[in-house]
Amino acid sequence: MAARYAPTLIRLIDALMRLPGVGAKTAQRLAFYLLKAPREEATALAEAIVDLKEKTRLCEVCFNVAEEARCPICQDPGRNRSVICVVEEANDLMAIERTGEFKGLYHVLQGSLSPLEGRGPDDILAKELLRRLKEGEVQEVILATNLNVEGEATALYLQRLLWPLGVRVTRIAHGLPVGGDLEYADEVTLARALAGRREMG
Ligand SMILES: [Zn+2]
Repeated sequence: MAARYAPTLIRLIDALMRLPGVGAKTAQRLAFYLLKAPREEATALAEAIVDLKEKTRLCEVCFNVAEEARCPICQDPGRNRSVICVVEEANDLMAIERTGEFKGLYHVLQGSLSPLEGRGPDDILAKELLRRLKEGEVQEVILATNLNVEGEATALYLQRLLWPLGVRVTRIAHGLPVGGDLEYADEVTLARALAGRREMG
């Protein structure tokens, strides 16, 4: 097939097909869209991708995506520093932010526990959460890991880890879509899951 088409076009289609949820037809459509798009539009997209890799790092406090030492949420003086919402990935944080219902801080674990896939406690940023809580300012930790097997295992592990600190630990309510990925939940469902959180243990 490669010999029949311009290699540059094939290269872009192949790269697009690596993106999650993008199949051959969509990749082809996107590639032709970019081919016809104004040069500035295509360049802006290419630069945004390069900047994403070069200018971002993890927030030193919560491990959200940041451009400075601290992310915009940790820098915001208006956020309630006594509540921490624990999520698996930064895109879960974005899902919760979209609800507009949460005004506290976050902790991004950068993963979840999965005995089946060999991911243990050292593969998530749990110790860093413990360190934050020992500073004593936090009164409630909301465990908003996904409502699937890995997310539940992670929540249970964190509950046991945090229990000796005497801090209030809550878990978001069920009622999320099957599989329980926060990033696919709509704002209303997620806001309800957050409001309906329950004490653990
Ligand atoms: Zn942060």
